[in-house]
Amino acid sequence: MTWKSLHTRFSSQCSVCRKEVPQGTEAYWDTESRELQCTDCHAALSHYREASGAGAGARYEYERRALREASEKERKWGKVLSFLTLPWQTTSFETRAWLQGSKGEAKLGALLDAWSARHDGTVLHDCRASLRPGARSNIDHIAIAPTGVYVIDTKTFAGTVAVHRGGIPFLRESPTLLVRGVDRTNLVDRMDWQVETVQRAMDDLTVPINPILCIMPRYAASWKGTFRIRRVLITDAQGLIRLLRRRGTLHSDARETIARRLQSALPPSSGSR
Ligand SMILES: [Zn+2]
Repeated sequence: MTWKSLHTRFSSQCSVCRKEVPQGTEAYWDTESRELQCTDCHAALSHYREASGAGAGARYEYERRALREASEKERKWGKVLSFLTLPWQTTSFETRAWLQGSKGEAKLGALLDAWSARHDGTVLHDCRASLRPGARSNIDHIAIAPTGVYVIDTKTFAGTVAVHRGGIPFLRESPTLLVRGVDRTNLVDRMDWQVETVQRAMDDLTVPINPILCIMPRYAASWKGTFRIRRVLITDAQGLIRLLRRRGTLHSDARETIARRLQSALPPSSGSR
């Protein structure tokens, strides 16, 4: 927890609602991200800031963005008119995607918890990973199974998700991940830092780390199957659980040691938002 209550020395701006915070006003300051929040925004977000578990980080981001957009709308339309707008008209598509993402993470989180309870595995949710001082990022889930460690990034998509293998086989074009026809292979690239972070935290090169991009479709029929792009496996929740259930050589003592190491190096992000 890095938030501090203070009285502003200069006239400033709230990082959430963008309203002016006059000099000498009470506000909250995060020493790590160097972010200032007015007392209203800080109070409105407190419940989501402290929340823990799968999807909590994405939910906090949704609430933060929604608060900003509501405040922008109020500035533009005035209090009365913006009060009359319907809730789904106050948030943008991008902001609502954070809410859908948080729901997808929570849903997968529950499935992973059920797997770990039944199969003696360990799962960590919403792990805090600092890339550099002041910057924060999180890893959605880490599962420690008999076949190794699984670093899981959850993505919730509506519409078709497909892997395009490239038209001419002998050219060995690398496959692309298409979401509603748009190239989102960058999501595969973004798994690199997550694998590096977990590798560093584990400090054990003998245990395999498997990067997984888990697609949580918003409509049942939009995604089926398991594909690999470079070392990243792209699958759905059922495919992931099947992988975790496989027999392997990592016995329970070794799994516990890894879990303890990862828990201390990459703690849950609750209280650090
Ligand atoms: Zn504010």
